[in-house]
Amino acid sequence: MASKVRLYVDQPLGEGQMVPLSREQAHYLFGVMRLQVGAVLSLFNGRDGEWDGEVIEAGKRGGVLTCRAQTRTLQLPPDLWLLFAPIKKARTDFIVEKATEMGAARIVPVVTDFTNSERVRVDRLQAHAVEAAEQCGGTFVPEVAEPLKLERVLADWPEERHLMFCDEALVGAGQVLGAAGKGPWAILIGPEGGFSDAERAKLRGLPFAHAVSLGPRILRADTAAVAAMTIWQQALGDW
Ligand code: SAM
Repeated sequence: MASKVRLYVDQPLGEGQMVPLSREQAHYLFGVMRLQVGAVLSLFNGRDGEWDGEVIEAGKRGGVLTCRAQTRTLQLPPDLWLLFAPIKKARTDFIVEKATEMGAARIVPVVTDFTNSERVRVDRLQAHAVEAAEQCGGTFVPEVAEPLKLERVLADWPEERHLMFCDEALVGAGQVLGAAGKGPWAILIGPEGGFSDAERAKLRGLPFAHAVSLGPRILRADTAAVAAMTIWQQALGDW
């Protein structure tokens, strides 16, 4: 049986709840996926789990679904933030998509000393996170935050949260993740130019920061984001 179409809607979901569709959603469901009245698809909104939605009105410019039954409860990812310095557009899109699939709870673009592409379209990145959640069967969608300067993020740091500082200067050393144990975490990945000496000195001096190596070779930032999330999830997450 073909897998059910999955659609993220920013609407409340519940027994008998009517869900109006936007023009784009109607085009996708009825134009691209060729669904008709009576068809059932999977709906999720990142808050109320996943629901069967039945098409009750289908048109070119809109449509209406009704919620039939809840098929899955909300599965929250671990309390893990991914902080990364924006890089080229396509690779930044990739980082957001992979972070969503791999279970980030929040994604924060951070501007560091050597970041050279601050212009980040948060609405576009948020749409990538939604698409990744639709595709990977997730019921949760991480928020993509507005870009923040690293020093601001560190100044406002929530004290109970650990920071996995992926330090390319440590290339080849071991990881020290398990030592810090469970609880809220964040991963920090630098830009193509790496961290400045001043940033490295500051980060290494922070009590909540744990500098780790991602192996004996220097990884591209997008590769590093995936590698770091894999290590973290294996050691402390929900894999
Ligand atoms: N320009 C830097 C250099 O050549 O040393 C490389 C920076 S790397 C492309 C981007 C980010 O990925 C780094 O700031 C770091 O956060 C992470 N990274 C890449 N390779 C790493 C490694 N072997 N160990 C720890 N972090 C790494």
